[in-house]
Formats: sequence, structure tokens, C-alpha cells
Amino acid sequence: MADYRKNIEEVEEEFATNIQSGLTETEVNERLKNNGKNKFDEPPKESLVKKFLVSFSDFTTLVLIVAAIISLYTAIATDHGDYFEAFLIIAIVIINAVLAIVQEGNAEKALAALEDMNKQTAKVIRDERTIDVDAEDLVVGDILVLESGAMIAADARIAEGSQLRVEESALTGESEPVEKDPDFIPEDEAPLGDRLNMIFKGSTIVNGRGKAIITAVGMQTEMGKIAGLLNDDHNQKTPLQKRLNQLGKRISLIALAAAAFVFFIGYLQGEPLLEMFITAISLAVAAVPETLAVIVTLTLAYGVQKMAKKNAIIRKLPAVETLGSANVICSDKTGTLTQNKMRVRRVWTHGDSVVDTEEGMTDEAMEVLSVAALCSDVLVENDDNELVIKGNPTEAAIVRAVEENYHTKAELEEKHPRVGEIPFDSERKMMTTIHKWGKKYLSITKGAFDVLLPKFHYGDVDQAAIVNDRFGKKALRVIAVGYHLHDEMPTEITSEALEKNLTLMGLIGMIDPPRPESKGAIKRAKKAGIKTVMITGDHVVTAGAIAKELGIMKSRKEAISGAELQKMSDDELDGRVKDLSVYARVTPEDKIRIVQSWQRSGAVVAMTGDGVNDAPALKASDVGCAMGIAGTDVAKSAADMILTDDNFATIVDAVARGRSVYQGIRKAINFLLSCNISEIFIVLIAMLLGWGAPFTAVQLLFVNVVADGLPGFALGREPAEAGIMDEPPIPRNESIFARGLWQKIGLNALMFTVVALAAFYIGAFVPSISYFVQPSFEVAQTCAFLVLAFSSILHVFNVRSSRSIFRVNLSTNKSLAQMAWLAIGITAAIAIIPQTQELFSLVSISFNHWIIVVLLSFVPIIINEIIKFHKAPEVDPEEI
Ligand code: ATP
Repeated sequence: MADYRKNIEEVEEEFATNIQSGLTETEVNERLKNNGKNKFDEPPKESLVKKFLVSFSDFTTLVLIVAAIISLYTAIATDHGDYFEAFLIIAIVIINAVLAIVQEGNAEKALAALEDMNKQTAKVIRDERTIDVDAEDLVVGDILVLESGAMIAADARIAEGSQLRVEESALTGESEPVEKDPDFIPEDEAPLGDRLNMIFKGSTIVNGRGKAIITAVGMQTEMGKIAGLLNDDHNQKTPLQKRLNQLGKRISLIALAAAAFVFFIGYLQGEPLLEMFITAISLAVAAVPETLAVIVTLTLAYGVQKMAKKNAIIRKLPAVETLGSANVICSDKTGTLTQNKMRVRRVWTHGDSVVDTEEGMTDEAMEVLSVAALCSDVLVENDDNELVIKGNPTEAAIVRAVEENYHTKAELEEKHPRVGEIPFDSERKMMTTIHKWGKKYLSITKGAFDVLLPKFHYGDVDQAAIVNDRFGKKALRVIAVGYHLHDEMPTEITSEALEKNLTLMGLIGMIDPPRPESKGAIKRAKKAGIKTVMITGDHVVTAGAIAKELGIMKSRKEAISGAELQKMSDDELDGRVKDLSVYARVTPEDKIRIVQSWQRSGAVVAMTGDGVNDAPALKASDVGCAMGIAGTDVAKSAADMILTDDNFATIVDAVARGRSVYQGIRKAINFLLSCNISEIFIVLIAMLLGWGAPFTAVQLLFVNVVADGLPGFALGREPAEAGIMDEPPIPRNESIFARGLWQKIGLNALMFTVVALAAFYIGAFVPSISYFVQPSFEVAQTCAFLVLAFSSILHVFNVRSSRSIFRVNLSTNKSLAQMAWLAIGITAAIAIIPQTQELFSLVSISFNHWIIVVLLSFVPIIINEIIKFHKAPEVDPEEI
């Protein structure tokens, strides 16, 4: 019989487990050994051959392959027997494909490592303790602890549950959460959606708490049975990558058109057709930016790795780009802007009796704290005599105050066991538990004072309102505690039945100090044109006090409460959104309105979130940031980025890194395209002047792959430039060529063209340079080739910074200098070693020619230096 038709004892027996104590570590290990891990069989990896074929289907590579075929044809047709060119083009295509596959493999590995850092965990009871384990290590018989926001990692039979509602649309397609009931046992077989006593892998707990016995893991789960259909697409390309691929294609097309043009001119000039063919090939080869796509991927992957080191894990690659454009950060307060070290500071019970808990404790204050501690779900552990309290920070503060005053939560619970509850949620901002109280039953309600206010019928409520305000102004979070004594166990455990007619017991004021780094990060964001908005469940006075301290707001007018927000229409909100900096007492639903209003004003919004109800706002925002520590699985899976330290400052760092990645890609484009475009010009002009083709296809491929490729790969590791956070955000749809990039590329392409043609001219027509080496076409080609290669290698030092090369510390990117030297060495070597000279159609040139080559190669970088001369600020690159 299926597990959902058995009662709980039968399920316990079947899986040899116990709901209270769980399995032992030995039993778990044994089951892991016998049944394997709780994961799906991996889909087969894309084979190397397939990857190779895919890289060949790239448009730019196809151009090269066609060029190789034409080259082969001309070799056969002219009978000159020179198959080397065709061979080399193919070799370089292959090397390029290998490089691309290796580099992309590295980038993929880096991204996969991030996925590992972000593994799903699950809370289970083992050896009588509640612990977090890697979800892959779950076994059948494990006791899952269910709590709101958790993503379920295996199929399980619910053993205990209170108000459990589960969203299982991934399996059933039904988006409405289903109410679960541990006591429900269907008489007949039931479809998945009707198994109300079961929970399934891949669904999420929207509300409530409970325990469940795992009945199936891995491929045996219902999700496992359909796993083959669910392979995620991990190969997301960012919008910029897509645009750049488009650009690569366009440039290749321009090159083809230029090739056809050259062919036509040559034909008119009466040049032999086959030779024209060869020139056309070299032109097509010249313009293809072979390494651009790989360099962009590398830059992105490097940025993502750097972010991970600084506690920001990117889940969706496009977020890296969006981060650079973010101009509003909507942040939670508790734990993100503050330290998440909530501590009780004040307790009020009646009249003027405010107790400063740092100075001493009274019996009355202790009573309020103890009752509030009973109405809490945190877990108390004593690790090496150090008190560790896990769970909701507000409750942790209360329970800590109790435990530090020589009482324990365990002892209180033993005396007054809990018999019913209505769990906390941020929407209601309160919770209730029912306890045995001698022969009677006490229901305890604790929550935000202003929300509970109408429910108090007894107690000093007016005075409490004054105290609440006073506490708030001191940036204290206020929790009100009330109770109701029942003669009998209440039959209806609902908010309507229990959360009314309460007696006010007291107020607890607690503080969560701001993180020391928050203030600086907010200032840094402001300088970078980014507005910080605080969104909090806390009271408007408390929130305002902290916001002022942090520099988020200046006047009270910038803060509104959720209630005021709800009264506003969307139009009214749009009119005020730019002036509001603090939203207090908001519900997660309000967050969506705030995001959308900002977006309507054209802003790019980053938004933090941790709870289940935050998921829609995280999705709606441009960069959803989930909390790594306090965040629920649901929030994490809806987010673009995860903050492993829950820290606001991490978002600002990630923005800086996002900008730096964008800057890096612009540098790569400047570096590569200047050279590619100059190659088209050089060939075209030389042909029009009737000088013949200045380069062979092989020479051009060498320049593109070695002289440009090697330093280009290192360019991705360039640190961000100083002042990257002194500029406004990058406008969302700004062209990557904006802000003068086209002009820079054009100018450099022009300079390369002039120096390479000058070198060609000198090599071809100026006899007085050397006594030993007479001008010739081959000497001219060699000189032009060397000048083009050297000047484009040197160009990497120019593009790496907008400041003078003398002001940039070479050691900030050692691999760049190493790669540049390597490229220079290889280029010089092939021009000197006789065997390679022949392969690359080069000849020996005189010492004087070498001097001229070197001088000409330095001309572009000198001119660039003159242009940069006045601009550069005297600062080191910003370490981000
Ligand atoms: P922020 O929104 O700034 O990150 P938060 O996430 O702690 O703060 P919520 O959890 O939504 O905010 O809490 C909102 C309000 O509910 C708090 O100001 C507090 O008054 C009350 N509250 C928080 N936790 C509890 C709890 N465990 N029991 C009762 N009331 C609580």
C-alpha cells in the first residue's frame, strides 16, 4: 500500500524511524551507502565533438572555413603547390575552437562552482537534534522539519503540521497553495494533488510548521520520475553577449562586402583572378573578431568569481550587466542594514516602570519576557557553553534575555507545554501560542504594538502607546505581549477566535544596531548616483531613527507607513516615489508596488528579500537579491543574486563589480576592433593604391589570434578603474559604443592604418634604408606585418586605463604584461627564425628596418598618451 494511505505509526515502522529522535548518524550513513544520494541522475554532458561542431557553426568561423577552401582551390588551380595557407587557416580555426572550448570550460567551471556554493540544505532531526544538512544527504526515514519558506527536497509523509500550506505547482500545475493535513488518509488511491498528507520534492511551504517522514529520495521521488523533462537551461547568454555576437556577424558581413569590392577593383585593374581571390580571403579573415566572444565570456566569468569572493553569488548571468545600471537599491532593514544582533534593552510593564535590562532585571519584566519566550519558535543550543539561538532574531533577543537571567526556555516549556499555535507571518506581524496553564489554558499573543493595539481590552493601553513612541524614537523595535486565559482548550484555533479581548502584559524594546559598514556603503552608493530606499516591517518611528543615523533620509517627510501607502493610488505613488526613502510597516505585497513605481519612472531597481512573500517582488525587480543566511529557499530561487553575508554593503560592492565588468568589455572591444578595422582599411587602401595585398591571410590570422588574442584574454582580469563609483550608473539601454568608444576605435584604427602603410611603403619603395636589404614586396609585407602586430599588442596597455600608462601600476594585472611580452616574443621569433619566416611568408629585414618598425609601432601609443595627458587623476585602481 502506498505511504499516503498508511497511518503515521505504520510509516515510522516501514522506514524504521522515530518522529521525535530521528535516525542516528550510523543509520543515515548506511542508507546513503545502500540507496545513494538524494539527487537526480545527471543529464549526459555535451560531448567534446559536439562542442567542436557547434563552435564551427559560428558565422565567423564559417567565413574562415570558406576562406580555407578557396585557398585550397587556388593552390590546386595555380599549381604552385602552396597548401600551407589553407592548412594554417584550418589549424588556426581549430586552435581558436580549442581555446574557446577550454576558456569557456573554465568559465563554466567557475559558474558551476558557484552553484555548489549555493546548494540546497534541509532541516532534519537526527540523533534527537535538529540540524541543517546538505539536501543531497537526505535518506528515507529522515525526519524533515517543515517551516515556512522551505523548499522541499524529498517526498515525505507529514507527521505533524500546523496551518501547513504548500505550493506544489511544479508537480500539479496548480498555483494555489494546498492546505495539508497530517491526519487525512484517503480510502482509495488518490492523484498527487489530493494526497493531502504528503509533501513532494520541488514544492515549497508557503505557511505553517510541521514534521514529515521522508518516504522517497532522488529519482524515486515524484519529481525524479519526470526529471528528464526538467533540465534547466544553464547556458544563458547576457543581452550584451547576444548584441556582441550580432556585432561580430555584422563585421564579418562588412568584411565580406569589402572583399567582394577588392575583388571587383582588382578585376577592373586587370589583376589575375586567382590572386584577387587570395586577397579577398585575407580581407575576410582580417576583419573577423575571432576572440571577441571568448574574451567577453571570460570577463563576465572573472567578474562573477570576484563577486562570489565578496559574498555576492550571481544566479543569473545577465544580472552582472544589470547591476552596473542599477540606480535604486531597495533594502530590508533588519539584518541587511543592521547587524542582526537584536538585543532586548527595555521592558515596560505598567505606569512608569521601564526597566533598562542592561542595568538590572525585575520580576515583572522577567515575567513578560518569559511569557514572550514561550510564544517563540527559536532553537536554543549550548555549544561549548556558548549560547547559540537559531531562528527569528526578534524571538532570539527575547529568549536570550531570558536565558541570560538564569531561566531556560526548555524549563518554561516543560511547565507550560504548547498545545496549539497560529504561526508568525510578516503580514499579520503577530503570532499566538496556547499553553497548558495549570488546569486552564493560556493563549499568548505577541507582535507589533500598533497592530495589536485594537486587540487589547485590558491593561494600561494609553500609557503603552506613549512608551511605544518613546522606544521607537530611540530606534528600538517594540514587541507587545498580551494573553487570554481560557477555562477549556479552545476548539477553534484561528486568528479571529483567539487574537481578541487580550490583556496587555507589557512591551519589550529591542535594538539591532546598524552594521558599521552600512553608512559608508550608502554614502558610496549616493556618490555613484544610486538611491538607497529602506523597506521594513518595523514601526515608522523606529525605522526613521535608524534611517537618519545611516544617512538614508534627512527629514521625516521622506518616510511613510504601509497604511499610508495602501491609501495612495499608483499615480500618487509615482508622483512621490522619488522623494520617499523609508517605507515602514510594509507587507511584502507593498514591495512590488514600490519596485514597479520606480520602474515606471525609468529606474533600474535592485531589491532585497528573504521571505516567501518576497519572491514576487524579487522577480519583479531588475536585480533581486536574496539573503543567503536569513533567506528562505523560495526567495533564493526567485533571486538573481544571493548575498551570502546578508549585508547591504555587498550589494554596493557588486554594483561596482558590475560596472567594472562592463568597463572591461568596452576595453576588450576597443582593443580588438581597433585592430580588426584597421586591417580592412590597410588592405583596401593598399589595393586601391595598386600596391598589391599588404598581408597574407595567414599573417592576419596570426595578428588576430596571437597578437590580439593573448593579451586580450588577460584584459578580462583588469581591476576596475579608479573613480568607477564616482560616475552615474550606466543608462539601461546605452549602446556599448556610447561615450566616445566608436571615436576611440576609429582614431586607433586610423593610426594603425597609417603606421602599417608607412612601414609597407618604406619596405617597398625606400632603397636608402639599408645597404644589404633592397626594397621588395616581401620586405614591405614583413615590415607592415610587424608594425601592425607590435602596435596592436602595445595598444593593450593603452586601453587598460583611461589614464597614462605611466600612472598605472603594471603589477595590478601581471598576466597582462606577461601575455603582451609573450605575444611580442612570438611575433619577433617567427620573423627571425628562417623556418617560420617561410611559413608566414616573411623575409629577413635589416637592423635599420627593425628600428623603423619599432619606432612606427610606438607612434599610436605616444599619440594616445598625448591625448590622455591632462585627464588623469592621481589615484590607484579601486580594489573592489
Ligand atoms: P525588516 O523588514 O526591516 O527586515 P523584519 O523582516 O524583521 O524587518 P518582519 O519580520 O516583517 O520585519 O516583522 C515585522 C514586525 O513584526 C516587527 O517590527 C515586529 O514588530 C513584529 N515581529 C517580528 N518578528 C516577530 C515574532 N516572531 N513574533 C511577533 N512579532 C514579530
